[in-house]
Amino acid sequence: MSRMPAEQIFKGQIASPGLALGPIDLHTLVLAKPGAAGTPERERRALQEAIEAARARLIGLAEKGDAMAGDILALQIALLEDPELTAPAIKAIEGGTSAAGAWCEALDAQIEIYRSDDSEYFRARAADLMDLRDRIVGLICGDGQGSKTEAPDAIYVAQDLTPSRFLETDWSRYRGAALIGGSASSHVAILARARGVPLLIGVGMAEEALRDGAEAILDAEDGRLIVDPAASTVARYRDRLAQRKDEAEREAAYLDGPAVTAGGARIQVCINVDDLEVLDRVNPDHCDGIGLTRSEFLFYGTGGLPDEDRQYDAYVRLIDWAGGSPVTIRTLDAGGDKPIPGLTPEGEANPFLGLRGLRLSLARPEVFRVQLRALARAAARGPLKVMFPMVTVASEMDRARALFEQAAAGLAEASIEARTPPLGLMVEVPAAALDVAHFKADFFSIGSNDLVQYVTATGRDNAAVAALHDALNPAVLELIGRVVAHGVRADCEVSLCGDMAAEPACLGRLLDLGLSAVSVAPAALARTKAAIARNTKER
Ligand code: PEP
Ligand code: MG
Repeated sequence: MSRMPAEQIFKGQIASPGLALGPIDLHTLVLAKPGAAGTPERERRALQEAIEAARARLIGLAEKGDAMAGDILALQIALLEDPELTAPAIKAIEGGTSAAGAWCEALDAQIEIYRSDDSEYFRARAADLMDLRDRIVGLICGDGQGSKTEAPDAIYVAQDLTPSRFLETDWSRYRGAALIGGSASSHVAILARARGVPLLIGVGMAEEALRDGAEAILDAEDGRLIVDPAASTVARYRDRLAQRKDEAEREAAYLDGPAVTAGGARIQVCINVDDLEVLDRVNPDHCDGIGLTRSEFLFYGTGGLPDEDRQYDAYVRLIDWAGGSPVTIRTLDAGGDKPIPGLTPEGEANPFLGLRGLRLSLARPEVFRVQLRALARAAARGPLKVMFPMVTVASEMDRARALFEQAAAGLAEASIEARTPPLGLMVEVPAAALDVAHFKADFFSIGSNDLVQYVTATGRDNAAVAALHDALNPAVLELIGRVVAHGVRADCEVSLCGDMAAEPACLGRLLDLGLSAVSVAPAALARTKAAIARNTKER
């Protein structure tokens, strides 16, 4: 009689919350077979053809996707076109190595360099290189890459997952994903959160547990992957899943109406847009508009700044989608854990305290001007609001406003339709929260993700200090309360667009402080509106 494999539990970090139960769909690297080299001429041709085929496939994907997807894929396309990446492989082929073997060696060397980089951004980009390595090897070997499990409702398990693979994967087939590598600040984690795909990263899996088709439970609520779960564990999780399903159905019932507390207070609930593709999945009538667009995502992977027209097109797409509701776009917040090569300074000892957000935009007026012109033109098309990230002192806000007005005036002189929209301040630096009354802003939006890290002196990407990184720290709540009170006194809108707004436990405290506008990830919209309906705050 065959014995049931024992239940194994692997801990991981939660990159996107949720629960899933299903067979593992294991995506493994197709390894190059050593010693299979033909003549150098044949192997070189095989490599070049594979690179060309991969490039064409990525270009096709980029054209199908939105601006953000296109920009992410552009990085991979640029890497494939970089002779520095291919030269070592060609040299190894000339020395008698097979095309697949040579490509693997060349890419593994680069991946190691990226992985050991000090910057989180470059470490996260190692996944893009792994994707290119696997794609090309799969093409050369002719057997592709991927799993054998065709079961629906599977759990995607891989060493790592790149943005391009994420974007081309049909997630309706999957309940979630677990990655052995990964980084919570990678593009993939951001895409997964925006789409509500449960994702665990850094799962310390044993080789022998990696069985395609093995039953597993992905618990991205407590941070673990359970492989070959015991019957009693499965029963427990089935109950939890049934509860979550009932909860989700109950919450979805709140989507249609406005967000109102049980005490009758109307709360504005907008969505955060990081990925233009989510617009296809959200009904604009279910929210009060867009409360945050992280515009830096439009800049990722391009190796530079999209031109004015491309930015304008992306902004207009948001305005058209919102159909008359306000659309808030944040100017570039490059830096910190989101550097843009060629724009953010390299080698900063502490990038979160460095040249990021508005500081960087003011330091690079030629880059900032392009964005301001695109925004001023978009403002003529609909109810746009623009806000500036990481403002520390009032004079930065004044300079940003002056530059905006200059950009709008320059367009008007050239008879191009443009206007200066309401200009807001993101309150995420404690100095700005404490001195909020001295800032001239048309509205305020509290960026609690950064405010928490700066008030508690805990890096938002550092798991070792996660226990201290507490949005409910009394000092954080004190600062939020001050900003809200200033908004009431000055009759100026205050909203909050950090992740704490989507945590029902935090939301109650925010409403108690008098906050009446929040902006959350699209996947958290129903949950947030339901939590508001349970709250007793009075009108
Ligand atoms: C924040 O800091 O809360 C915020 C919304 O901005 P980001 O997460 O992009 O820094
Ligand atoms: Mg921030």
